[in-house]
Amino acid sequence: MKKISSKVLALVVALTCMFQFTVVMAADQTTTLKNEKSSNNEEITNAQNNLENVQQEKSKTVTEVENLDSQITTYETQIEELDGKINDLSNKITESEGNIQKAEEEYQKENQLLNERLVVMYENGETSYLDVLLSSESLTDFISNYYLVSELASYDTDLLEQIQEKKQEIENQKQQLETSKNELNTSKAQKEQTQVELAAAKEEKSKQVAQLSQEEQNIQAQIDELKEANKEIDKKIAAAQAAIEAAKKKHQQQQQANAANGGSSSSSSNSGGTSTGGGAVSSSGFIRPVSGYPITTTWHYSSGALHGAVDFSGSGISGKPIYAVADGIVVTTEALTTSYGNYIIIAHYNGLYTLYAHGQAGSIAVSEGQEVKQGQQIMRVGSTGNSTGPHLHFEVRTSPGRYANRVNPLNYLP
Ligand SMILES: [Zn+2]
Repeated sequence: MKKISSKVLALVVALTCMFQFTVVMAADQTTTLKNEKSSNNEEITNAQNNLENVQQEKSKTVTEVENLDSQITTYETQIEELDGKINDLSNKITESEGNIQKAEEEYQKENQLLNERLVVMYENGETSYLDVLLSSESLTDFISNYYLVSELASYDTDLLEQIQEKKQEIENQKQQLETSKNELNTSKAQKEQTQVELAAAKEEKSKQVAQLSQEEQNIQAQIDELKEANKEIDKKIAAAQAAIEAAKKKHQQQQQANAANGGSSSSSSNSGGTSTGGGAVSSSGFIRPVSGYPITTTWHYSSGALHGAVDFSGSGISGKPIYAVADGIVVTTEALTTSYGNYIIIAHYNGLYTLYAHGQAGSIAVSEGQEVKQGQQIMRVGSTGNSTGPHLHFEVRTSPGRYANRVNPLNYLP
């Protein structure tokens, strides 16, 4: 079946100009188209399953991207909060620095005032202070010493100490602020690092989503293409069916015309044939494939096996011409050493196929794809293949390659 079908299809392509041939092949073409469509449908089902998987994976990945996005937003908020705190601390540190500066200036001012007072005291002749001053190694030392000798200075000393203490306190606070600020900066850097990692993960996932979307589109396009192809197939099937109907109508018209012309063969114009069978034409439009020899074996079951044919035989039949029973196209010629031996299959315009078997070696007179006319000699009777003596084994089929599609030739022959 496969072998014949592919030959037939090749012929269809090669012989597009032969409208009739295309029509004859329409039935076979329909089968091929239906197979093609069913294969497309299988592909569509697979593609749709594939599409569902891709869509599920995409949906999952989109959720992951959304989660990452939400995490990134959380980190952004936290980083913003840290930025606010760091900013506050920076302001406080600046403020501390100002306060330290102020305390320093105050200290310098008070110190200056104290010095001035000491000078005044000295100039008033209180020489004992000069002695104290000269004997002191440093200002602090002097103040201590001075305190011992004059209660007048005690207030100034206290004031200077207070200023220094206050300055120290501010410096300590500033140190704490800076420590806190450093901690916040470290925390911020960590969060920023995590955020960068999350952003990278999100980008990776987003890429996956894009890839899956692309895949989704490709599969959908594939499905659309297959569906489109099926539509075309449906159109072709419809065209093939219409062609079959047209051919049947044309065949009927030809038969009616033949009947009106006195029942003679339709092949009045024999194109390239070497001889003409002639003889009566059946209601199916067939003549007999051999002239002057009877059917000796009919369609029957023998030991459970069907002889799905009729055999023509008789004395002297060897080498007699075998004729095409109707116009048609040769779809198979083959020379087997077993089975049918040398045999030919012809496709006819009414959708039937005829098979001629056991032809004489070297007598096949037609080739595949050749158009033949009714009554044209195609081979000679022989005994090739599985045959016990010279005879013509003749079959009628509704499909060229199908053994099961044989029908009783007696219903078609005159
Ligand atoms: Zn037979």
